[in-house]
Amino acid sequence: MKNSYTFNAFANKIRDYNLISVTNCYVVQTCEIFNKDHCKYIFLAGINGKKSLSKAFAALEENSNFTFSNFMRNCLIEFTFGHEFQHILQLNSDSCSSSYAFGENNCDSEYSIKKHAWEFDADRFGAFEVLKYSFNVYRGLKVDNTELLKCLIYPEVASLVITRLLFYLNIVEKTNIIKIQELYTNKFSHPHPFVRIINIIDFTVNCCQDDFAALSITFQDMLNYTLKISKLFFKSYIPEQNPLESFFEMLDVNVVNHYNHELYEFAINDNAIRSLLLRRNINF
Ligand SMILES: [Zn+2]
Repeated sequence: MKNSYTFNAFANKIRDYNLISVTNCYVVQTCEIFNKDHCKYIFLAGINGKKSLSKAFAALEENSNFTFSNFMRNCLIEFTFGHEFQHILQLNSDSCSSSYAFGENNCDSEYSIKKHAWEFDADRFGAFEVLKYSFNVYRGLKVDNTELLKCLIYPEVASLVITRLLFYLNIVEKTNIIKIQELYTNKFSHPHPFVRIINIIDFTVNCCQDDFAALSITFQDMLNYTLKISKLFFKSYIPEQNPLESFFEMLDVNVVNHYNHELYEFAINDNAIRSLLLRRNINF
């Protein structure tokens, strides 16, 4: 754990030691962001949708063994550690890395497509860990209703969308004012949050179509519900500001898709990532 007032996580390789660390601000803010008060309207995301889905959201809200705040907080933690763990694997799979440190959310440093591709890959690995976590929670509920699994998968992705927006718009602290960051592609150490959000959504939808085909989750549904949930969250968390406004204003889906495709192509040809994919028998 690092002493810092910034919300951050790190993957370090120092000689033969692999370390993952988070700042104490990460611990405090994660609890603060996903507390009960800010998540009390999440179940309303089902309203105006299919009846079976709104019923499933309501059933989760009423289940005494489940709370959206705990669930979404755990999803963020699973994502953070999954993401950083993948950086550790990348560093160990890369022949030229000796000592190296990866920090999240420091986007002022220099651009390299390799760095962006490694972030792209780490986000996918993190998103997969979160999907596994949701499925475990679903199994733990011991209810045979696949709509309920959807009501976990949408908030799961929303927890990642919400936190990406909070960090990059500089409003992890509620009192901070939104700082708009223009959409960029070939800049800074980390891809733009919208590029990351679309990658996470796209990848999770593909995984759902492969592993849970019966759910028939489409990209459009995933986008609609995660944004609906994010809106309900922000209404409670920062009622005077609307971070989604700038999301809609600035998101250029064609630019983002094109750049994500470029990162994908780079990633599958990168030695470190390629050997990890081969070792795990993942088709790409
Ligand atoms: Zn990273």
